[in-house]
Amino acid sequence: MSKHKSVDVLVVGGGNAALCAALMAAEEGCTVRLLESAPKEWRGGNSAHTRNLRCMHDEPQDVLVDAYPEEEFWQDLLKVTGGLTNEEMARIAIRDSSTCRPWMRKHGVRFQPSLSGALHTARTNAFFMGGGKALINAYFRSAQNLGVQIDYQATVTHLNVKDGQFISAIVSHRTGENEAHKEEVFAKSCVLACGGFESNIPWLREVWGQNEWGEYPADNFLIRGTRFNQGTMIKQLEELGADMIGDPTQAHMVAIDARAPLYDGGICTRIDCVSLGVVVNKFGKRFYDEGEDFWPKRYAIWGRLVALQPGQIAYSITDAKAVGRFMPPVFDGTIADTLEELAQKIGLDVDTFMQTMNSFNEACQKGEFDHTKLDNCVTQGITPIKSHWAIPINQGPFYAYPVKPGVTFTYLGPKTDKTTAVHFAGKASPNLFVAGEIMSGNVLGKGYTAGVGMTIGTAFGRIAGRQAALSAQRSSTTTA
Ligand SMILES: Cc1cc2nc3c(=O)[nH]c(=O)nc-3n(C[C@H](O)[C@H](O)[C@H](O)COP(=O)(O)OP(=O)(O)OC[C@H]3O[C@@H](n4cnc5c(N)ncnc54)[C@H](O)[C@@H]3O)c2cc1C
Repeated sequence: MSKHKSVDVLVVGGGNAALCAALMAAEEGCTVRLLESAPKEWRGGNSAHTRNLRCMHDEPQDVLVDAYPEEEFWQDLLKVTGGLTNEEMARIAIRDSSTCRPWMRKHGVRFQPSLSGALHTARTNAFFMGGGKALINAYFRSAQNLGVQIDYQATVTHLNVKDGQFISAIVSHRTGENEAHKEEVFAKSCVLACGGFESNIPWLREVWGQNEWGEYPADNFLIRGTRFNQGTMIKQLEELGADMIGDPTQAHMVAIDARAPLYDGGICTRIDCVSLGVVVNKFGKRFYDEGEDFWPKRYAIWGRLVALQPGQIAYSITDAKAVGRFMPPVFDGTIADTLEELAQKIGLDVDTFMQTMNSFNEACQKGEFDHTKLDNCVTQGITPIKSHWAIPINQGPFYAYPVKPGVTFTYLGPKTDKTTAVHFAGKASPNLFVAGEIMSGNVLGKGYTAGVGMTIGTAFGRIAGRQAALSAQRSSTTTA
């Protein structure tokens, strides 16, 4: 194993949180090395798949309309997490989102207004021009200009931590198909920003276990983003005795097209017409209120809901009235002129399906349909209720999209505080920090609201970079 000369700050990961940390530490004048597990062409982790950042603002701000005050953002977060959040940490992220964009622009990120159909987000979410891929490319370019040393195909496998103090990391550099070269990298401080464990199917299988039908639900999960977030550092922190937070089965899980690839299907595999119709399981039965709230506040629970259904499959059913009201998915839906024919085509029991559809249609009360607000179109007398946008599905052609659970990111990770330090037996590490998905469980106990992943990564990535720089500078003064 080779040993490398020490740097001030070591950053593990190559997504948004890692780059924010690396840029901040470099701006503070530190020598920084960033280790990215993926090859260059796949760099950027899940961040490369993103489109926007949820931002607090008290008045219209360039691409953002109206206002989205701190309290509203906080209440939204409180609602989606069902109170499983840390107010101090959440408010840090919320406040940072109102001031981070000039810094992001300085490093080459550009914004654009949301397009129509993009989840009612013109007020709350600033969209990246060119998407997350452009954001990542801009940050890597800026990091290079600031002298950050970047290694690709460099996976950190072990950490050397003594009494809560980071000493070194063991890195495996992939040099060929089945070849790797190991290196021990020393640094004065370290930021772990290497995602959750969502890409690790055996781990997901273990924590989800077997269901009442004898199935292993995780066998039917699809991973929406990178294959490189294997959770190696989460396991390592657990083994090192770090304080952990989060339920391992809790994750951002979206109902995505069942025909999507196992990894990296990205945004275009999402099925966004759930609130415009009904969703039935493989027995042709509805199982949850499709109109509970605005789609941006609910889309991330539907993966879990489908995961809890037999066979982990469901079908989003709409009619001609829904066309043009949502972003069309990348794969065509199954189309039929009648609901009976639709059921046949997708292989559902026609009688049960028709019973579900007929009782839904009859239960729809008269109201004024308005998909831009929580309207008064509601069902009565059926379970589950559809509490908004409930209008009869009766105008052909009819559409069905098969959906499976698409895991975006998991919430299990190390417990941290406003400094982003990892805690060991309640004591904050002086030089080991975390940012992004790996610590998202500190803010998201469950649930999600669109764009908050990048809010968390940007806020805590920048804090972690600053803290790591401070720690490295402190250690230089004490050793000088
Ligand atoms: C399809 C999709 C769309 C999304 N859209 C949005 C959106 O519009 N807005 C939003 O806020 N959020 C969105 N998210 C969620 C968002 O991607 C994450 O919250 C955010 O990107 C997390 O950033 P991160 O830097 O923590 O992790 P990542 O961006 O996933 O980066 C983790 C990095 O760590 C590297 N890595 C992992 N393990 C190791 C190791 N052992 N050694 C070295 N490197 C390692 C990986 O290769 C990767 O580069 C989306 C996610 C997906 C999958």
